[in-house]
Amino acid sequence: MRRLTILGATGSIGVSTLDVVARHPDRFEVVALSGHRQIDRLAEQCLACNPRLAVVADVEAAGVLQAKLAGRVRTEVMYGPEALELIAALPEVDTVMAAIVGAAGLRPTLAAARTGKRILLANKESLVMAGGVFMQEVAAHGATLLPIDSEHNAVFQCMPAQGNAGVRRILLTASGGPFRCTSLDALDHVTPEQACAHPNWDMGRKISVDSATMMNKGLEVIEAHWLFDTPAERIDVVIHPQSIVHSMVEYVDGSVLAQMGNPDMRTPIAHALAWPERIESGVSALDLALAADLVFERPDFARFPCLRLAFDALQAGGGTPAVLNAANEIAVAAFLERRLGFRAIADVIAATLDTLPHTPTGTLDEVFAADAQARVTAARIIEART
Ligand code: NDP
Ligand code: MG
Repeated sequence: MRRLTILGATGSIGVSTLDVVARHPDRFEVVALSGHRQIDRLAEQCLACNPRLAVVADVEAAGVLQAKLAGRVRTEVMYGPEALELIAALPEVDTVMAAIVGAAGLRPTLAAARTGKRILLANKESLVMAGGVFMQEVAAHGATLLPIDSEHNAVFQCMPAQGNAGVRRILLTASGGPFRCTSLDALDHVTPEQACAHPNWDMGRKISVDSATMMNKGLEVIEAHWLFDTPAERIDVVIHPQSIVHSMVEYVDGSVLAQMGNPDMRTPIAHALAWPERIESGVSALDLALAADLVFERPDFARFPCLRLAFDALQAGGGTPAVLNAANEIAVAAFLERRLGFRAIADVIAATLDTLPHTPTGTLDEVFAADAQARVTAARIIEART
């Protein structure tokens, strides 16, 4: 029996995780759940799984949840960032799904690493911000890190059982998002609704915008660097609009191993939940005849400047990826609030990186300082444009 904490249970990954978990009541017990603002949804989840603890954003949200649950389930309600760390580190929990979006996921995910959990990592921002510190903590405390991001889960499945001997390249596939063929001029006028309407995946709003700018793939290159101890020169991005091949590993003998499947996050979630075993996920079987036309293209860095910015940030090292990540979060939030145009997202990130070129991040405090400085800088740059 695996005992789970699900951080970000109310989000897209959280809901898919609970779907897989509900298919296997003999294997999984939910000990704790977190949400942030979607209290109705979290209440339903608590009523369905009867977790020992639930965590929400603040005292008001906690009061609302408490009232909905009173007398119906055993769940104790807590709130705030420290409570997130607490449920990630509970002694009776062995597995933590890290599915909070953005920098808010870093501290609780680190708490899971420091208590040696099996971490199912969806929150790629943790690794982008603090990959060095994070991987050290995982190693120091004997935690197990399993990637949920579909590309990294695919690479994990195609990698040698240990190390990366014989691997020549990692090939991350990217759908190219909703604007792969949109004219560059038209990109100036796209709306948040259009950017969030991903052709293949149903995801949260922030990652959907990241997919439309391809910053998502940029963040994933940095994520792959840390997860698989591979330099940027040996990580390539391939556009594959059908999202059937989830990524590939090329070996020195010319073999290329790919992991394929229908685009449904329940596959990587089930894989990581049960690893090294395999369990049913509810995902329909891949019909190869239907998927017959698999297309692969090179990415266009002029159309997707965010991808180039991320590669450059990884090469620059130090605190630059943390600055990139924070500036992106601020710019994407401004775009979603209609305060910034779509193409200006990349401009704001580039200007923030130019303003903060050499930020050290040897320690966690330095990571958070770089993150905070980048947020203020990006917000000022956005303000100055309007
Ligand atoms: P969603 O926006 O759907 O969900 C985010 C979750 O985080 C929700 O539970 C939300 O709570 C919670 N949350 C938001 N802000 C905070 C905060 N400040 N503190 C604590 N909790 C917070 O995102 P996704 O599920 O799409 O993505 C989650 C992570 O997984 C991201 O890092 C993303 O990059 C990654 N990922 C997602 C994929 C997908 O298919 N969706 C694929 C690969 C990676 P509430 O909704 O209650 O406010
Ligand atoms: Mg991905």
